[in-house]
Amino acid sequence: MTNAPLPKDRDPMDQDQFLTILSREDALARFEAALFPRPVPGERRKLADALGGTLAQDIVAPIDVPPFDRSNVDGFAVRSADLVSAGEARPVRVKLNEEVIACGTAPTRPVLSGTATSIATGGPLPRGADAVVMVEHTQPVGARAIEIRRAASPGQFVSYAGSDIARGEALLRSGTVIGSREIGMCAACGIAEVVVARRPRVAVISTGDELVQPGRPLAPAEIYDTNGAIVAAAVNENGGEANFLGAVADDEQKLEAAMRNALETCDMLVLSGGTSKGAGDLSHRIIARLGKPGIVAHGVALKPGKPLCLAVCDGKPVVILPGFPTSAMFTFHDMIVPVLRRMAGLPPRSDAKVMAKVPVRIGSELGRTEFVMVSLVDGTDGLIAYPSGKGSGAITSFAQADGFLKIDALADQMPAGTEAEVTLFTPHVRVPDLVIVGSHCTGLDLVTAGLAHAGIMVRSIAVGSLGGLAAAKRGECDFAPIHLFDERTGTYNVPFLGEGLELVPGWRRMQGIVFRRGDARFAGLDAQGAVRAALADPSCIMVNRNQGAGTRILIDRLVSEARPDGYWNQPKSHNAVAAAIAQHRADWGMTIAPVAHEAGLGFIPLAEEHYDFALVTARKNRPAVQAFLRALASEESRTALERAGFRKA
Ligand code: AMP
Ligand code: MG
Repeated sequence: MTNAPLPKDRDPMDQDQFLTILSREDALARFEAALFPRPVPGERRKLADALGGTLAQDIVAPIDVPPFDRSNVDGFAVRSADLVSAGEARPVRVKLNEEVIACGTAPTRPVLSGTATSIATGGPLPRGADAVVMVEHTQPVGARAIEIRRAASPGQFVSYAGSDIARGEALLRSGTVIGSREIGMCAACGIAEVVVARRPRVAVISTGDELVQPGRPLAPAEIYDTNGAIVAAAVNENGGEANFLGAVADDEQKLEAAMRNALETCDMLVLSGGTSKGAGDLSHRIIARLGKPGIVAHGVALKPGKPLCLAVCDGKPVVILPGFPTSAMFTFHDMIVPVLRRMAGLPPRSDAKVMAKVPVRIGSELGRTEFVMVSLVDGTDGLIAYPSGKGSGAITSFAQADGFLKIDALADQMPAGTEAEVTLFTPHVRVPDLVIVGSHCTGLDLVTAGLAHAGIMVRSIAVGSLGGLAAAKRGECDFAPIHLFDERTGTYNVPFLGEGLELVPGWRRMQGIVFRRGDARFAGLDAQGAVRAALADPSCIMVNRNQGAGTRILIDRLVSEARPDGYWNQPKSHNAVAAAIAQHRADWGMTIAPVAHEAGLGFIPLAEEHYDFALVTARKNRPAVQAFLRALASEESRTALERAGFRKA
């Protein structure tokens, strides 16, 4: 495998391949074999400071709880045999002993036959007594006697010693996370200190020249360090104590120094990025110098997550997660969490799972276990799991998903209609009240804002107009937002509806030419004129849109047969067009007015696009659907939409 150290003088541009890709099971087995068994270091804590800790040892009850037989009620300790004949019509009279057993009072006199002793809830049962009668069931006779009108069975209203916790019983098991209830159990037994597992200290380092910490401004070509924050939080969630050491540039010396420094003070090191064996990917080369046995797996048949690198250096786990945040998260949860929890003395994580139907075919790479994040919605017969396919670079796909499903390494697809097991990210499924599947628009967020605040859970899944329409036809959503232009009729949306769907008018989005403000080539022109001017200047670069986008149809009409520089740059969103122009990668393109304004670009209006909703008629009476219709019609959303640059239909 590539796990052999690499020559130091290798050409940094040479992209050596992963020679041996291990299955996830083999990789995990090798990693665990190199790390375990090992003791879980424990530390003694005062009970009050133990909250949230993990017990490192079993706790055996040192005493009986309660420590003595005690009364459960306020009343009189009696001999049950004295009351055998008692009844409503035949009260039994007993003499009161000259003693009152309050809580905390040890009895001094026995209860002899024909007598009773006054006792409070929690008071210790005196010698001779075997039952307690409630004060409500007695009648005083002078100061020194009572009458009792019911029989008492032996043991009535008595809690026996050790009935709650018996001395010698296993009270709490190691691996238990200490909450208030566990603290209560220890306190009841008189335990003032417990031994908790010392949380493994985990150093977290991000690598990459392009990384900037949140809170600082981004320069061109830089991105925010996402993995640092995610991994540190996930470490803390799983029994570790994260020590985030920031992002280190792709510089072998600096990185090696940071890694050595981390290993000196921490029990484990988790890096991210720089493992794909691209130019500048160094971490795995450094690991080979840090300790034995070094890399145990580099390249795992996982998707996302193939470049994962697992190593053990002188007993400490060293992991390089892939750079893409989603890949980093999956591999961390799937491969690193089990090891971290074991080091932290925690039992394996138990994830909640549900079965759900996959509505569309999901393609998969043969030979790699593939994880696909899904959003769950309520279908006509059971749950439906929508793959949220934004690619492994997308962080939102993680945050918006309810869980994930696994496609076996030996399968090249999961066919539409498969009942799949979904591992939930949360302990319970929360099925959304309102499901919107189709084309996304920032205007939608303005309309649904009020619903969310009113406690209606809205799930909006962006799959494009045609995907949304298909979902609506299958009855898998309430609304499909669409903006489909029909060339034949020259109208929007209506011709695309089928049986069972009805159109709810949404809003209009002004499409137009975008350019950088101050670009004199476009000054004072209308849209047609601007495109003519752009086509006349060979140095003027355009940015196009993807085939199938409503915007693309408008662009193709304007440029006709011309294929200007940039025509083949075809991003899939309005925002990407604006970004390309703002960053000087292109000079003009077409987008919607709100996006152009948000990006600070010049805008020449061309035509209005209709963004409407295909409503599944069968779902019309659902309360959340009605709430959405009211929100859409409300004056608030009209104002908000118009302020954002849309025009309410
Ligand atoms: P690498 O494995 O270093 O080649 O990174 C793969 C991709 O993940 C690149 O697009 C990196 O910019 C991105 N990436 C790497 N580290 C991080 C990080 N800490 N946060 C966000 N993105 C990252
Ligand atoms: Mg990198």
